[in-house]
Amino acid sequence: MFKKILIANRGEIALRIQRACREMGIQSVVVYSEADREAKYVKLADEAVCIGPPPSAQSYLNMPAIIATAEVTDAEAIHPGYGFLSENADFAERVERSGFVFIGPTPEAIRLMGDKVSAKQAMVRAGVPCVPGSDGELPEDPKEILRIARAVGYPVIVKAAGGGGGRGMRVVHTEAALLNAVQTTRAEAGAAFGNPAVYLERFLENPRHVEIQVMADSQRNAVWLGERDCSMQRRHQKIIEEAPAPGIPRRLVERIGDRCAAACKKIGYRGAGTFEFLYEGGEFYFIEMNTRVQVEHPVTEMVTGIDIVQMQIRVAAGEKLPFTQRQIALRGHAIECRVNAEDPYRFVPSPGRVTMWHPPGGPGVRVDSHVYTNYVVPSNYDSMIGKIIVHGDTREQALARMRTALQETVVEGIQTNVALHRELMVDAKFVEGGTSIHYLEGWLAQHRR
Ligand code: ADP
Repeated sequence: MFKKILIANRGEIALRIQRACREMGIQSVVVYSEADREAKYVKLADEAVCIGPPPSAQSYLNMPAIIATAEVTDAEAIHPGYGFLSENADFAERVERSGFVFIGPTPEAIRLMGDKVSAKQAMVRAGVPCVPGSDGELPEDPKEILRIARAVGYPVIVKAAGGGGGRGMRVVHTEAALLNAVQTTRAEAGAAFGNPAVYLERFLENPRHVEIQVMADSQRNAVWLGERDCSMQRRHQKIIEEAPAPGIPRRLVERIGDRCAAACKKIGYRGAGTFEFLYEGGEFYFIEMNTRVQVEHPVTEMVTGIDIVQMQIRVAAGEKLPFTQRQIALRGHAIECRVNAEDPYRFVPSPGRVTMWHPPGGPGVRVDSHVYTNYVVPSNYDSMIGKIIVHGDTREQALARMRTALQETVVEGIQTNVALHRELMVDAKFVEGGTSIHYLEGWLAQHRR
């Protein structure tokens, strides 16, 4: 096992990785920007190194600075967390070329899955069902594009091969609007992702977002650790996640989970990963794979009892998965609410000093957050300041625990979306379960104030 790991991230996930290292008896080095000097995990760190000014381009995305820090601190491996450099194949490659272990998949696997066109093609080959669409990248010829769209059937969605974070997508309802949409998406994709390739697929009108967590070792063993429902989204950003997905027949989930694990073996995948699907009309349709730990990993940890971050470290160190698929049992129900520093109804970021922080507690309640009273939320990064996760024997019990947890939560000095979560936890449709990816935006439009 490693003696020392460098954590190349910030916020709650930096703390989460630091905790995993502590429990395993591994020393950890944190890198931080000038804006994060006062962060909890920096104060708690075995070693902490400032790598640059607040803008991420000069700090958390600064590959030479991060690798140089690993060198001077004698770290053996680098954990990239999520976001920042976590899905950057060039970074993974540079880390390994510099003699460190990248805690994640191989650069080849990241590259294959990072391009949505090649990812979809690989999944088709591996027998994972995908959204019907163009066979790869769209050609130049306008007549061909029109023909492909007609065969797929309107509405369609034009998507950038290099897209991510909900950007680089355009829904097209009529043939008249198609060519313009393709051209605009291509131009945007070229500018934003340095890759103008676009593809097209059927636009599913009212799907749910259901994803499968996988874990694989470097000896070609792979398992799936249940599913998560992440349909409660605003502008493609998830805010509530739960496991298992309510109301989906177990045999359907098992069939898709087994396909995902088989696909991992087929592509030689290593580490934690997530296969994202849209679920509509009793069918799963693959949309993309995330080759890293997800924000919502705790709900899977709560229902499986498996520490995903520790498992990432173990397989990166070359250990074999300590369980087989048959040994994985799902118990109860877990829900996560992402706590964002923002106006709960207008969504304007609300950075600044947290003058009071009282996280909730009690049976089945977990809080992953780096916040403390007097902590200043910097304005430079994502607005998520933590996650409240609950576990119960049933979904009803988990909901009741989340309501209590949210009532106990006190955050003063900044605005947060806790008030919104409190309302959603008693919303009749959400409580019933199985809402689509459009539900939250519709709800917000109705409850505008
Ligand atoms: P990103 O990498 O930017 O997150 P995804 O391919 O995962 O892109 O898509 C993000 C979101 O866009 C999905 O969660 C879903 O809400 C919507 N979306 C993507 N593809 C489709 C589709 N074929 N039909 C309907 N909605 C889609």
